[in-house]
Amino acid sequence: MSVSSLPVATLGTPRIGPRRELKTALESYWSGKSSESALLEAAAGLRAANWARQKSLGVTVIPSNDFTLYDHVLDTSVMVGAIPEVYGWKSGPVPLATYFAMARGAQGEDSDPSCAHGHHGGDHAHGAPAQEMTKWFDTNYHYMVPEFSKGQRFQLSSLKAVDEYREAKALGYQTRPVLLGSVTYLKLGKSKDTSFDSLSLLPDLLPVYIDMLRRLAAEGADWVQIDEPCLVLDLDDATRDALCKTYEQLAQALPNLKIMLTTYFGGVSDNLDTALSLPVPGLHIDLVRAPEQLETVAAKASRGLVLSLGVIDGRNIWRANLPALLDRLEPVVARRGADRVQIAPSCSLLHVPIDVSLETGLDAELKSWLAFSVQKMGELATLGEALAKGRASVGDALEASANAAAARKTSPKVHDARVAARTAAITPDMTRRKSAFAGRAKLQHERFGLPSFPTTTIGSFPQTAEVRKARSAHAKGMMSDADYEKFLQEETARTIRWQEDIGLDVLVHGEFERNDMVQYFGEQLSGFAFTRYGWVQSYGSRCVRPPILFGDVSRPEPMTVGWWKYAQSLTAKPMKGMLTGPVTILNWSFVRDDVPRSLACRQIALAIRDEVAGLETAGASMIQIDEAALREGLPLRRSEWKTYLDWAVECFRLCASGVADATQIHTHMCYSEFNDIIDAIAAMDADVISIETSRSKMELLDAFKDYKYPNEIGPGVYDIHSPRVPAVDEMTGLLKLARQRLSDGQLWINPDCGLKTRKWEEVRPALVNMVEAARLMR
Ligand code: GLN
Ligand code: ZN
Repeated sequence: MSVSSLPVATLGTPRIGPRRELKTALESYWSGKSSESALLEAAAGLRAANWARQKSLGVTVIPSNDFTLYDHVLDTSVMVGAIPEVYGWKSGPVPLATYFAMARGAQGEDSDPSCAHGHHGGDHAHGAPAQEMTKWFDTNYHYMVPEFSKGQRFQLSSLKAVDEYREAKALGYQTRPVLLGSVTYLKLGKSKDTSFDSLSLLPDLLPVYIDMLRRLAAEGADWVQIDEPCLVLDLDDATRDALCKTYEQLAQALPNLKIMLTTYFGGVSDNLDTALSLPVPGLHIDLVRAPEQLETVAAKASRGLVLSLGVIDGRNIWRANLPALLDRLEPVVARRGADRVQIAPSCSLLHVPIDVSLETGLDAELKSWLAFSVQKMGELATLGEALAKGRASVGDALEASANAAAARKTSPKVHDARVAARTAAITPDMTRRKSAFAGRAKLQHERFGLPSFPTTTIGSFPQTAEVRKARSAHAKGMMSDADYEKFLQEETARTIRWQEDIGLDVLVHGEFERNDMVQYFGEQLSGFAFTRYGWVQSYGSRCVRPPILFGDVSRPEPMTVGWWKYAQSLTAKPMKGMLTGPVTILNWSFVRDDVPRSLACRQIALAIRDEVAGLETAGASMIQIDEAALREGLPLRRSEWKTYLDWAVECFRLCASGVADATQIHTHMCYSEFNDIIDAIAAMDADVISIETSRSKMELLDAFKDYKYPNEIGPGVYDIHSPRVPAVDEMTGLLKLARQRLSDGQLWINPDCGLKTRKWEEVRPALVNMVEAARLMR
């Protein structure tokens, strides 16, 4: 029998809508401007549009329950009734108010990440706090961390998956419902006390899953997609065991329901035997992150297993080279048979923007190299058709795809011989300061003559409504360049004067001219492009538009020197130059896939190195290079950490090491565990590092203490994620804790992170108290 296409799946689609319709609907509902039914109607509209879009583009395995009002992990918690007591729910259907209380806190305050890229604060002064939020594997999507108590019981508390299956069916779509697998779900959760392992809750959880799956089957679902991305992590035997038990029980309870078990964000590698031993009829593998697993998996899989081949990149925005993919896929299909293979993206399309055709402002050639969610659906369908009916059946789609790949390979927009020559000429010398820290510190202390416990801030000051209004007016052409510049200068001058007035020792200019700490640099570097509608969900209603790093990077002109000069001209105190580091720029962008990430990062590092040199030549004596995202770039597998950290640290050093010994290099890192990467932190060799610590009661400093970290540190004493103004004695209390771990000579005093999300009414008293705390310490 000749079929018109192999089954083509998406595994999940973006929820936010092409124009962020979900954000609009949510925010209008949260602010009380629209009703619950208006919100639910908007959501149903987005689902219907998603299903229709997939169908019209040739997707044949259409998911349901991939949509969510906030987060699919939160949906899972609600489905199984894992709702902590503070939210006041006992049993029965979970009200929307409870759902959003878990997402955002009971006061309905939005969670408040200080960093544009959103790690989570979530502290609320009153009411039930939001659940903790953290990054979904190595993506920039954040999920609400399930919270389990001892003796946790589960009960089926939401029929969302059934409802959405039905809703699709009523519209004429037979869908494959998506559920987050029970083992991954439990592993993503946190126990309130550490006395028990969340996996021990599995026996109580599985009946809830079985109940849900029975209901889906009863509605007519023949396949379900169950996501177990934990299969690409380093697993212990207990977890492997839990996987076996889970899928044996599900197979026993539901012998006729077919499960497509999906793994993504990497290779299954040492978990392959486990994955293949599970009694499921379908297995999805990620062939973008781990292309090499195709042959092994195909060889080892039982004849009957349906393999879902994740060949289109769900994590990046590049158009695929379809003929090259067909070269790899055709033999597998020939061997296994067309009814044993499905074509899919590497992971859900959640992590890419929706439609590149909306980008009318992009360079046409660059645009022809890109594929967002909609274009990827088209690619999947083309592959499915070509595999079923032969390459000739898809017209010139293959040639067009190969041509785009070929053009990108040789385009002068991508390849700059001077950049290639420069990166090839990097020497180890360029990554080393002239003297070791002790020698530098001596020169720096003589030069600056700072008091002990010097005070400073991380860089940004409040981005007020006026600042944002001026920026948007300027962007829309409603405010002239000159007026905007004057406005920013006044903001900057006022902020500098205020810092002097309250007696801070090391000043910053406030970063008012920056829209975002990565975009600001990307817009001035060659090799980067920006989209108009390329939104990707970061969490809930919050979306980001990552820059697209498409080509060799260079810095045509100074990026920050003018602002620094202006700022320094207003004060005799040291003014820090303020830059974003290469690793952070890389980790928060869509990165080219034609060269290794390490090489792209080195190019950025050289560009930042030029900026560092420019600042030093202009007279800057202190330069801060933020690496907020260094830790979050860590690979999922431990065995790959060293390679990443080696080049990441090398890149930081490359941009920081061109300066004189008396020039002080600062860096800043947002909330992170330092224990397991302290060697790398030390190897960065920044003269001063400021870190987020206030919420950890300085326990994060233990790692530095145990390591005998020699350089200077500013542990944050002011939690900028909260509107609370810390009292002087709170801060001296924290400093005393810091003192138990580090010597006085090492310590700086600063807030946890930048102040851009705070209000001046909060910042003013907090920093006055901070300066007072420093005085008391001296
Ligand atoms: N310099 C930046 C600021 O102060 C750093 C922000 C961050 O680390 N995320 O806003
Ligand atoms: Zn920070």
